[in-house]
Amino acid sequence: MSVDCSFSGLLSTPRAEGSPCIKVVVHSGFQMPHPVLDTIAFSMSTPHIAIIGAGPCGLTLAQLLEHKGIANYIVYERDDSPNSNRAGGSLDIHPETGQRALREAGLFDKFKECARYADTAFALGDKNGNRIFQMGEGRDAPEIDRAELRKILLDAVPEGKIRWGHILKEVTFGDDGRPRLRFENGTVLSGVRLVVGADGAWSKVRRVITKATPQFAGKAYLEGRIRRGNPLYKTMAGKFGPGMYLAIGDKKITITQRQGDGSYRIYFGFQTPEHFFRTLDLQNVEAIREMLLSSKYYGDWAEGTKDLIRHATDFWAWSLYTLSKEDLSWKSVSGATLCGDAAHVTVPNGEGVNLAMADALELATSIAQHGVEELNEAVAEYEKGMLGRGAETIAQGEMMIEAMFVERPDIFVQKFGPIMGLNN
Ligand SMILES: Cc1cc2nc3c(=O)[nH]c(=O)nc-3n(C[C@H](O)[C@H](O)[C@H](O)COP(=O)(O)OP(=O)(O)OC[C@H]3O[C@@H](n4cnc5c(N)ncnc54)[C@H](O)[C@@H]3O)c2cc1C
Repeated sequence: MSVDCSFSGLLSTPRAEGSPCIKVVVHSGFQMPHPVLDTIAFSMSTPHIAIIGAGPCGLTLAQLLEHKGIANYIVYERDDSPNSNRAGGSLDIHPETGQRALREAGLFDKFKECARYADTAFALGDKNGNRIFQMGEGRDAPEIDRAELRKILLDAVPEGKIRWGHILKEVTFGDDGRPRLRFENGTVLSGVRLVVGADGAWSKVRRVITKATPQFAGKAYLEGRIRRGNPLYKTMAGKFGPGMYLAIGDKKITITQRQGDGSYRIYFGFQTPEHFFRTLDLQNVEAIREMLLSSKYYGDWAEGTKDLIRHATDFWAWSLYTLSKEDLSWKSVSGATLCGDAAHVTVPNGEGVNLAMADALELATSIAQHGVEELNEAVAEYEKGMLGRGAETIAQGEMMIEAMFVERPDIFVQKFGPIMGLNN
């Protein structure tokens, strides 16, 4: 049974397993003509596992649990509906992590219907518009739009297993030692055996596990779009074609990336103070273009780059945050764990979604092996591997950002070439 989250209410559950009776105190302002204080009792099983966040990690975990016959979980998501999430860019899905999770979840064939192998091409250039090399066509790391990946996962998770509009406010522990979840809509959920924080970079679940909090990485991306129908689109599509193009110069970058619908996303990357974007009005397209065209940013870059700026629309800001490797060292906490960005957010390094899905696979597998009676053992085993993977991806993120924000692309090749398999 689903709980109507438009109520401002108090949900409390008794400890007993089976079919406990939940008492909901409803103080409703708009479902009924007059404010009333009402008490409704109905039957609902407290889920054994509460997954916070319906991002790639939370949804993959949900589908994997479902697939492994562990059906007693609920996903709680901040967004009001499946359509309210900002779509986000194209993601390359790697064989040993993201693809493996999709295979195990029985979703690989669906994924392949949308996967774009042509868009795995990667090209490197400089600020003057010179293309230095291109590689990676047909790599086994096909691209998929984030919205398409989310749809595949959402279609697989049974309706009713996701509670939309549930913003987790805090986790505490009840007298029984079990997590108690308080949501901003007033819902309080007690008695779950395990809360899984798949709630991204600013995880609320993380607070009961570690004091660690992401730190600003000193860099940010300003995203813009060139859609079909944009006067620059044809010229641009002819010039950039499939895949991703990275241009480097003067410690700034541009990343131009083709999306599933043929449109392009462009990320303008540069150093900023931490709260720089709070001072900008991203709706003021002309002002943003003017700023990017100024000498501090891309004023002396090639005309091709400046054309992108002159025509880009739909600006969006991404300030980059990361945990540190040392943060990934906590001792398992009874009844709570983290996966995906909640556990090891770092600057974009091409692994984030892949590791998030791999975490989901490792956690679901461990839960299936230990059974729901031994969730703490399952978590301890999962965290042993996850903490190592998390520290590694953070190290890789640090290295990547240091290699990309350099004076010239040849410095990037020197620093990052061996990792990318470049000979010179
Ligand atoms: C600009 C940019 C580009 C990137 N490009 C790539 C790429 O090319 N490849 C790649 O692999 N990775 C990329 N990443 C990283 C990738 O986006 C993340 O690693 C990935 O989304 C992590 O998945 P997740 O499910 O753990 O977290 P998220 O995707 O952040 O999902 C978290 C979910 O939890 C929900 N939530 C948050 N707080 C609460 C709350 N309090 N209560 C309830 N629900 C909550 C959110 O609404 C969301 O649905 C990029 C990141 C950025 C910023």
